[in-house]
Amino acid sequence: MILRGDVENSIIDELIGGMPPWTEEANCKGADADIFFPERGASTRKAKSICRACTVQDDCLEFAIDQSEKFGIWGGLSERERRRIKRQRIQDSDIRDVG
Ligand code: SF4
Repeated sequence: MILRGDVENSIIDELIGGMPPWTEEANCKGADADIFFPERGASTRKAKSICRACTVQDDCLEFAIDQSEKFGIWGGLSERERRRIKRQRIQDSDIRDVG
């Protein structure tokens, strides 16, 4: 008999589209969401500083880029910064395909 433990719960979360397992390690867990989703023009310094100390920063950034997250600080970067990375990757892959 299988008991519903953490492993099974995380598999179910994945299957139903829940949050990926790395979010368990997120340094922002329990933090005020306003820090990570600041009003337009407000400082992102505090969020970015929390991200710099986060052990899952790379996972978080890749997730946000992959999902084209439109709002907030993810992986220590703003939406504009993430968009720049995504654009650069597309350009790099176009160059590889042509070359
Ligand atoms: S990188 Fe930042 S936003 Fe992403 S999980 Fe870590 S603290 Fe949260």
